[in-house]
Amino acid sequence: MARENERVIDASSCVVYPGWVNTHHHLFQNLLKAVPAGINADLQEWLAAVPYPRLARFTPDLARIAARLGLAELLLSGVTTCADHHYLYHAKGTTETGDLLFEEAAAFGMRFVLCRGGALQAAGDHPGFANSVLHPESLDQMLGDIERLKSRYHDARPDSMRRVVVAPTTPTFSLPPALLPEIARAARGMGLRLHTHLSETRRYVDFCQEKFGMLPVEFVAEHEWLGPDVWFAHLVHLEPAEIAMLAETGSGCSHCPVSNARLGSGIAPAPQMAAAGVPMSLGVDGVASNESGSMTDEAHFAWLLHRAAQQVSATTVEETIHWGTAGGAGVLGLDAVGTLEVGKAADLVLYDVDALRFNGFHDMAIAPVAAGEPSKVRYSIANGRVVVDDGEIPGLDLDELRRDAREGVRRLL
Ligand SMILES: [Zn+2]
Repeated sequence: MARENERVIDASSCVVYPGWVNTHHHLFQNLLKAVPAGINADLQEWLAAVPYPRLARFTPDLARIAARLGLAELLLSGVTTCADHHYLYHAKGTTETGDLLFEEAAAFGMRFVLCRGGALQAAGDHPGFANSVLHPESLDQMLGDIERLKSRYHDARPDSMRRVVVAPTTPTFSLPPALLPEIARAARGMGLRLHTHLSETRRYVDFCQEKFGMLPVEFVAEHEWLGPDVWFAHLVHLEPAEIAMLAETGSGCSHCPVSNARLGSGIAPAPQMAAAGVPMSLGVDGVASNESGSMTDEAHFAWLLHRAAQQVSATTVEETIHWGTAGGAGVLGLDAVGTLEVGKAADLVLYDVDALRFNGFHDMAIAPVAAGEPSKVRYSIANGRVVVDDGEIPGLDLDELRRDAREGVRRLL
C-alpha cells in the first residue's frame, strides 16, 4: 500500500538492476555516428576525419542537441550515472558547452560527472589537432575554468549528483609532460579526480616508447598520474608489469570493448586486470566510434569477447554487470551508488523481460545482458526520482528531439 507521497510501481515481469554507471563517454559525438569518412578508419585516421575537423562547429545549441540525444539513449538502456569526457575546448572557444551538460543531465535527473578535457599543445604530435585549425588553451585557461566549474557544480558527497574531474584529453599528446604533475597537483589540491585516455592503440604505445623511452603506465607513474583517484579509458595494450602498477596504486580502468573493436584498436586484457585487482568499470565511449550508447550492449559484448579471445572462464555475465555498476561507482568515488542495498542511493532500473525472446530463461536475472539488445527499460529510478516511467522519459518531446538531431546532422555534414 502506498502511503501519502508514495507510489507503487508494478515490477511484475521485470528484473531489477542497479542503475548502470558509464565511466567514459563523449556526448557531443551523438551527432557524428557512422560518418562515412571514419567508418573503416583506425583511431588515428578516425580522429583526424571525424571529431577534430568538426570541433569548432559544435556551437552550444548543437552540443546541447547531441547531449540530449545521448543522455536519452543512455537512460533508455538503464544508465543512471554518466561520466562524460568533454574536450570541446580551445583557446577561442566557449566554455559554455561544459555547463550545458550539467543542465541537460539535471533535466533528465541523471547523475553526471564532467571530465573536463582539452589540450595544451597544438598540432605536432596530436593526431587530431594536427588536422584542425584550433588553438589549444593555456594552462591558466584550463585550470581557471576547472576552478569555476568546481565552485559552481562539484559535490564531493558519496551520493553526489554532480562531479567535476580533471581530464586532459591524452597525456602523451595533449600537453607538454612537464605540465602533467602540475595538473595532477592542482586537481588533488581541489579534491578532484583525474581521468584520461591511455594505451588505446599499439601506435600509441610505440609513440610513447619512442618519444619518452617508457611504457605509457610508466610514463604516467613518472608524472604523478597514478592512484585511487585516477581512472583511464581503454588500457588496451598493457605489459604485465603495467597491470601490476595499476593494481598496486588502485588506478582504475574504463573498459570500452565495443569502441576498441570498432576502431580495430585491439582487445584490452580486462580479465587479467580484474584478476590482478585493477578497479574495473565499463564505458560506451563516444558513439562516433560505437554507434550505440547502451551499457547492456557493452556488457554483453564484454562477456562474449574475452571468452572468444581467451577461454570460457575469462568473464561471467555477473562480472560484466559488476564492472558496469558497482565497479563504475568505485572508480568515480560515488560510494553510495552501484549496488542495491538498504541505505544506498535509490538508483535502480527495471528491465521488462516479458518479451518473447526472454521466455525460456532459467536464470532471468542475467537475461538483459545475456540475451543482448534490445532490452527494454520499463522503469528507471535515479536518486529516488522516476526518470523512465513505463518505458518513457517524462517530459521529453521525442519528435522534437528527432527533428533537432536531423537538423544537427545536416549542419555537421
Ligand atoms: Zn574516448
